[in-house]
Amino acid sequence: MSIIAFAEQRNNTFRKAAFETVSEAKRLADKLGTQVIAVIAGSSVSGIAADLGKFGAAKVYVIEDSALANYSTEGYTQALEEVIKKENGKIVLLAATAMGKDLSSRVAARFKAGLASDVTAISVDGGKLTITRPMMAGKVFQKISISTDIQVISLRPNIFRAEENAVPASIEKLSIALRPIRARVKEVIAESGKKVELSEADIIVSGGRGLKVPENWHMVVSLAESLGGAHGATRAVVDAGWRPHEEQVGQTGKTVSPKLYIAVGISGAIQHLAGMSSSKYIVAINNDPEAPIFKVADYGIVGDATDILPVMTEKVKAMKGK
Ligand code: FAD
Repeated sequence: MSIIAFAEQRNNTFRKAAFETVSEAKRLADKLGTQVIAVIAGSSVSGIAADLGKFGAAKVYVIEDSALANYSTEGYTQALEEVIKKENGKIVLLAATAMGKDLSSRVAARFKAGLASDVTAISVDGGKLTITRPMMAGKVFQKISISTDIQVISLRPNIFRAEENAVPASIEKLSIALRPIRARVKEVIAESGKKVELSEADIIVSGGRGLKVPENWHMVVSLAESLGGAHGATRAVVDAGWRPHEEQVGQTGKTVSPKLYIAVGISGAIQHLAGMSSSKYIVAINNDPEAPIFKVADYGIVGDATDILPVMTEKVKAMKGK
């Protein structure tokens, strides 16, 4: 038996979550005395396959077909199904991204396998997995074990550490006779502008109710853009309709783990911290020196966000200009 790790790529570039998936598969494989078989599907992805060996994949199956250039549930399910059968895969790991959530449920149904989605921890005891996942909008965590022969698990992005754990990887091209794909993506229309995606960003500037009015939000965006980062928000701001839910960071939003997280006008509620406390450096800007966010911050600035943000943005621009 082996652990199958689906490595998500878009436009022939791995998502950060792909490395997290392979790394967690490797950690489990070490505990279970087995190896990691990674799968990558696309139209011309063989050039990036070797990268998965750095994170612990002993073998990488590359499945290339022009019909797999864009993600489709049917096409990618066939690719993953083929490898699971060929390698007698018993544990299948994917990232709980939009793609991974979609694919994991179809793959699980195909094998009549149990599925645990959006998982935040996996422990191994006596060869059995205990899986932790949030429920009821993150209010409680459940611990489960899957009783079917094959277990399909999707991992919440930015929770599991991507860890270089190089093993000599063999790369094998696998050609499969794809059955016709009935629903096909004809065109992908990217959002306008070069917006950095929140869950992939190295730098995030997030704003909270301390911005006072939505008209001040452009200050958060300007600082994020000047740093080449993404911008996020608290739930208070999302609930107030200032920002869309896809920008929410926290227990019921996205989990992020950037190198730098700048929290502006954010109190530091436990539910917000749940989504960003693993950031490498946290900078807090708040006019209340007693705000809880300062307890987790590496650097703190006490003052009015609307005074500080424009100055910081100008400084960053000036430094970058040099
Ligand atoms: P506030 O708590 O109102 O804080 C505003 C801060 O701005 C204060 O610290 C204040 O001192 C400061 N401030 C005010 N004026 C200025 C100024 N001029 N300059 C600088 N600072 C200023 N929250 C999330 O963020 N993400 C989640 O995923 C999430 N999930 C939740 C799930 C559940 C089940 C529940 C019950 C709650 C959840 N929440 C979540 C909400 C959370 O509890 C907080 O209510 C929320 O994070 C507060 O947002 P805030 O920090 O923007 O607002």
